[in-house]
Amino acid sequence: MQTQMLIDGRHLAGQGPREDILDPATGATIAAVPEAAPEQVDAAVAAAERAFTGWAATAPKDRAAALLRVADHLESDAADYAALESQNTGKPLSAVLSDEIPAIADVFRFYAGACRTTVGPTAGEYLPGCTSLIRRDPVGVVASIAPWNYPLMMAAWKLAPAIAAGNTVVLKPSEQTPLTALKLSGALAELLPAGVVNVICGRGEPVGRTLACHPRVRMISLTGDVATGQKVLALAAGNLKRTHLELGGKAPVLVFDDADLESVIAGIRTFGYYNAGQDCTAACRLYAGAAIYDRLVADLTSAVRSIKVGGQREPGVEMGPLISSRQRDRVAGFVERAADLAHLEITTGGRSRTGGGFFYEPTIIAGARQSDEIVQREVFGPVISITRFTDTEEAIRWANDSEYGLASSVWTRDVSRAMQVAARLQYGVTWINTHFSTISEMPHGGCKRSGYGKDLSVFALDDYTIPRHIMVRL
Ligand code: NAD
Repeated sequence: MQTQMLIDGRHLAGQGPREDILDPATGATIAAVPEAAPEQVDAAVAAAERAFTGWAATAPKDRAAALLRVADHLESDAADYAALESQNTGKPLSAVLSDEIPAIADVFRFYAGACRTTVGPTAGEYLPGCTSLIRRDPVGVVASIAPWNYPLMMAAWKLAPAIAAGNTVVLKPSEQTPLTALKLSGALAELLPAGVVNVICGRGEPVGRTLACHPRVRMISLTGDVATGQKVLALAAGNLKRTHLELGGKAPVLVFDDADLESVIAGIRTFGYYNAGQDCTAACRLYAGAAIYDRLVADLTSAVRSIKVGGQREPGVEMGPLISSRQRDRVAGFVERAADLAHLEITTGGRSRTGGGFFYEPTIIAGARQSDEIVQREVFGPVISITRFTDTEEAIRWANDSEYGLASSVWTRDVSRAMQVAARLQYGVTWINTHFSTISEMPHGGCKRSGYGKDLSVFALDDYTIPRHIMVRL
């Protein structure tokens, strides 16, 4: 197992304190990864800076070739990546193998193509006697700071557009889930010139902080909590770094009375509890029309009771544990506080599972009111609230009444209503009669406190480049 970091094309152990890496399904320690010392953060940034000029000047077709080789490598080693990711996060192995690894490889392939087909405004004589044209050039050294919920996927979302655009990167995975990024670093050392991607390990404080305020870093790309985004933004102010922030979410799901209930139930059963609900787009805040509400609560409750919870390799397992005991206790705290309110009913779940590991039962809280904590705050666990609405205006008002603005969905058979409601939702994505799917071609990112900047799609290439004006006097 790779536990060494990648700096300037060489693997070396962190010189800071060790972090125990746990298997969330058992609580057992599976590795100990030492964190980067401040001088090692400096060395990683210096290596990225040295590599920048050469990599930025590398022809897009050659950068693309490198990205394609990364994608091929991920696919050829898919089983090992999936096993490691699943062990470190507790996710069902089959889901990582069939859902995540192919999508991760596709992100590298997408940017291999996209960086060769960039388009822009036409050159022209906007001042008589002079020709103006636009270049899009890379930003420089990018610090990429990733969360624990999809460790390898978040690394891919950050690395692929950044290096496709000609930047160099220092990636810091979450201190809880560094293993697949470290494994990938083994391949990157062979597939990319030294210093183009550096991978360092450690906690947000001090390692992430040192990286985020480093004077030679030109951009920070963070996926994480809103509070972390606020801290990173303050650190970025030191040398006016660009920032790209993908923060939390609390996705509203609007189910109208004419919705296809069977498809709603199947959808929410999947999209509310995938990755044990530790997903910033999880379908967690349901609003149901008055006529459909009772059946929705009853049918969803029995569907959710059938979700198979278990260890990574248990046959038929659909949902694993939460990432840590701390996260499980946090989720339990939300449910306990909800249980104290007389108008709320926990129709299923509401308990941690006894025995080893950090399991929490899939949970539904019905009868929720708009002002309840369970409706307003991100739980980041397998907990869904259901609120009854009386008319479309109320549903839209409540859906938008949130500090978050990442994902949302609308379920109805009426196309006009779907389009009218979608147009008024203040969220980075609105799905209609589905939820959750992200694709390489389409942007992912939020409004309001969910942050700004886009992952995926050509919009991420825009974010990782700077438009520059070149004027030629004729
Ligand atoms: P987190 O904010 O605790 O940590 C994210 C990363 O930031 C980690 O690598 C951590 O070490 C680092 N970090 C923490 N403090 C830092 C500091 N002061 N300076 C620099 N770096 C610091 O988030 P998490 O608990 O790992 O992930 C869960 C959160 O991520 C949830 O809120 C979730 O909604 C969000 N998330 C958002 C998206 C999205 O696309 N919007 C995707 C996945 C997760």
